[in-house]
Amino acid sequence: MALIVQKYGGTSVGSIERIRNVAERVAKFKALGHQVVAVVSAMSGETNRLIDLAKQIQKEPDPRELDVLLSTGEQVTIALLAMALKDLGLRAKSYTGGQVRILTDDAHTKARILAIDEENLRRDLDSGHVVVVAGFQGVDAAGNITTLGRGGSDTTGVALAAALKADECQIYTDVDGVYTTDPRIVPEARRLKTITFEEMLEMASLGSKVLQIRSVEFAGKYKVKLRVLSSFEDEGEGTLITFEEENMEQPVISGIAFNRDEAKLTIVGVPDRPGIAAHILGPIAEANIDVDMIVQNVGVDGTTDFSFTVHRNELKKAMDVLSMVKTAIGARDVLGDDKIAKVSIVGVGMRTHAGIASKMFKALADENINIQMISTSEIKISVVVDDKYMELAVRALHQAFGLDQPASA
Ligand code: ADP
Ligand code: ASP
Ligand code: MG
Repeated sequence: MALIVQKYGGTSVGSIERIRNVAERVAKFKALGHQVVAVVSAMSGETNRLIDLAKQIQKEPDPRELDVLLSTGEQVTIALLAMALKDLGLRAKSYTGGQVRILTDDAHTKARILAIDEENLRRDLDSGHVVVVAGFQGVDAAGNITTLGRGGSDTTGVALAAALKADECQIYTDVDGVYTTDPRIVPEARRLKTITFEEMLEMASLGSKVLQIRSVEFAGKYKVKLRVLSSFEDEGEGTLITFEEENMEQPVISGIAFNRDEAKLTIVGVPDRPGIAAHILGPIAEANIDVDMIVQNVGVDGTTDFSFTVHRNELKKAMDVLSMVKTAIGARDVLGDDKIAKVSIVGVGMRTHAGIASKMFKALADENINIQMISTSEIKISVVVDDKYMELAVRALHQAFGLDQPASA
């Protein structure tokens, strides 16, 4: 007998038929003698619909009230799934995040889980119930409803698996695993049988939304056995997220991630003297704006152009800060560009192979794609390119690194 946490995403509970289908899958695991916790998202499109309603009233919705609103999406699906399970003759009980007592901090719309009271759940599981828990939501110390950021049901699933010391956490979605890149962009993308935690962490943080990054962090920290599977297929082993084993044969590049979440700022004609980077980025940090990539070039006239990227939502705020900095340090101009995309290749095999960067740059050059910024770490290389070339860049790299081809035996 195993304890399994199964998380079902929006499309997996997107209609009454799909919810019945989920109930049948849960019933199969129960019939095998397992204990099952089912974590569910809101029906697909529902969270967006609710955000849209809120924005019709307030351009920037009040965060506390937005969380009250958004949490209703998952409250609908837990009740419906519990009913569908009962309809199959199973014992089932639904729980909101607050009812479980998934305690979070008070950062509305992006709260972090601090602790989970798993006692009630365990009692229900031991008495033969399927426990159905609302994903994406918790409660802060003062009793306010909080939500965990978009895609947060993944994190609820993994956090519950960690708290209950589950044997496995299964993430059921509309693809049958983690692919070499988003199969919606590259139809030739292949499912990976396994991917290391490190690689999955990079993929998620660089834009692959198949798993929310915090869910991967949790799984790594608490050693949760994590698998991504399709709820639309009966068979299939999906993708297992593994800890890297020594001597394990690794492909050089495992996957390609991309995102359009960032914007680039350039402060032009900055006097080239010590302390200038701190002068520019200090006020940005004080305004609580996270900086991702940074590039500085010294021009022929002894001034430098200093560029960096921030989240697209913060472009305006960052431009305002920089226009003040510009006057203070005597720079020529401040430019903002939100028509950029970041494309990244990820692979633990990069550690032991040379020439990966030049191969990447050549593949992009062959397609006439200009690279605006570059950043690297031990297991990833990211480039910023013009937004309109993003898909072309992903396809070119997918092919150049042989990801279209079945892995050699
Ligand atoms: P859910 O609602 O089940 O949480 P999401 O839409 O959040 O589903 O995540 C699944 C989607 O992630 C897929 O439909 C796919 O388009 C996208 N995706 C992005 N990158 C990848 C990848 N590397 N492998 C698989 N899916 C990916
Ligand atoms: N319903 C939430 C969202 O759409 C949480 C989730 O689906 O994981 O982001
Ligand atoms: Mg998701």
